[in-house]
Amino acid sequence: FDKRSGWIWYDGAFVPWQDAQVHVLTHGLHYGSCVFEGERAYGGEIFKLDEHTARLKHSAELLDFEIPYGTDEINAACRELLVRQKLNDAYLRPVAWRGSDMMGVSAQHNQIHLAIAAWEWPSYFDPAQRLKGIRIGMAKYRRPDPMTAPSTSKAAGLYMICTISKHAAEREGFADALMLDWRGRVAECTGANVFFAKDGVIHTPEADAFLNGITRQTVIALAKRRGIEVMERAIMPEELPSFDECFITGTAAEVTPVAEIAGQHFQPGPVTKTLLEDYMSEVQPKKAAA
Ligand code: PMP
Repeated sequence: FDKRSGWIWYDGAFVPWQDAQVHVLTHGLHYGSCVFEGERAYGGEIFKLDEHTARLKHSAELLDFEIPYGTDEINAACRELLVRQKLNDAYLRPVAWRGSDMMGVSAQHNQIHLAIAAWEWPSYFDPAQRLKGIRIGMAKYRRPDPMTAPSTSKAAGLYMICTISKHAAEREGFADALMLDWRGRVAECTGANVFFAKDGVIHTPEADAFLNGITRQTVIALAKRRGIEVMERAIMPEELPSFDECFITGTAAEVTPVAEIAGQHFQPGPVTKTLLEDYMSEVQPKKAAA
């Protein structure tokens, strides 16, 4: 990935892609003092950019550092980067971390860095293909208690168990892993939130121990607009057989139907289909009235 060409916005300036480097004594690398975002642009417009930038700043605050750029500056940098990179349908990755000034657990005065990269990410929408659904395994690790880790921060350190879990699932032929929370409740996948449907009603875990995804919130609003009832509640894994449909949501996953969770089968049905289509039209740039 680092061998590509193009530009990366790095600490206030555009630098050539291959020159956007960090020192090995970076605090963020040693101690996980690093937060990031994942954003998508559709037709040259970044979907919910304000929400993503707000979450980036919030994530950093939870890790006790402040990103030294304002919301408007960050938003402008993201937009300018797309233009520089000549991208329409893209993925954007802002990342902020503590630098290498001091090495130790405490690094109160280390410089805070911010970089933003963007690369092409076409949005394919073949409903028939997507509605086949993906297969998901069960993760060994659980989402930590919010008293144990800042669970609403999109902190790099929290992804350690996600990568381990996703690798283990992939080795068993699954596309992703479903993680429970520390209480044993259904939580989320390694990079996406999870939804179920039964008798036309949506059931999704209450976001009290994991990232309340921007896509999750968008999909809940879309469902309500359709008059579909949404129940945010504690869901135990024993309940999985009682659901008809299952899908996951995320900036990257969009709305992805799920065909199986560790031997439990689901049939992508009307609720999944409706929300998949509604989400794909929601992300399209809104044309200004002529
Ligand atoms: N949970 C985790 C662990 C994630 O990494 C993501 C992706 N950011 C999500 C949920 C979904 O969040 P969003 O819809 O904001 O992309």
